[in-house]
Amino acid sequence: MTDTLTRPDTATFDPAELIDPARELEEAAPLEILKWAADRYGSRLTFATGFGAEGCVLIDLIGRHQLPIDMFTLDTGLLFPETYDLWQRLESRYGVTIRRVSPEQTVEVQAAAHGPELWTREPDLCCAKRKVSPLESQLAGVDAWITAIRRDQTAARANTLVVEMDAKFGLEKVNPLVRWTKKDTWQHLLRHDVPYNPLHDQGYPSIGCLPCTGRVAAGEDDRAGRWRGTSKTECGLHEPPSTSSEAQEARSTV
Ligand code: SF4
Repeated sequence: MTDTLTRPDTATFDPAELIDPARELEEAAPLEILKWAADRYGSRLTFATGFGAEGCVLIDLIGRHQLPIDMFTLDTGLLFPETYDLWQRLESRYGVTIRRVSPEQTVEVQAAAHGPELWTREPDLCCAKRKVSPLESQLAGVDAWITAIRRDQTAARANTLVVEMDAKFGLEKVNPLVRWTKKDTWQHLLRHDVPYNPLHDQGYPSIGCLPCTGRVAAGEDDRAGRWRGTSKTECGLHEPPSTSSEAQEARSTV
């Protein structure tokens, strides 16, 4: 849990190069995709994790196979105590460092500037300041980032490719778990005894900041507890994926 940032050398990338890898990796196992990404991008690759169940799967694969992949988390200062504890347990279990990336303002400074509990009044602004802006600063120094999103999590993620251009942040995005289901995720966690957030066993399938995360009732969508009572469904970290003909082709030709 350090604040050290390794900034790799400048390089360029070409979005047109992504169609073939996306097609070739569509049916690859997550470990194979991670190894491919580590080879392709070297030190200009990073993994942003929020310690969700899927993120724990990727940390397990990176840690057990000692893949040279930088990892960090966006510490909004508002995470659950269980999440901070999980962070330490994962680092200890795998002997890895998952860097802390903090917002420019502490929660207290933000409250002084915008009033208390900004998340209750302007959650988009709060997420922009505490998540999106810090993520932008991290991604400015790399060519690609790894995420733990799955296609079946939300309608907006249904067309996500294994490798795609991230139009929002202007770099490549690698999604090793896109084809996995929730069942696949939990089978992996339990089979390999991977540390995970105990809140998952208490009605919290999706866990973000404490003030904006609630329990989910049986039959509800996994993300129904996030920003409940508002129209907000995403932090703003993941743009809806491309639905271009090239992207569709990459999925349909395997
Ligand atoms: S999830 Fe809530 S508390 Fe966390 S950054 Fe977004 S609005 Fe703020």
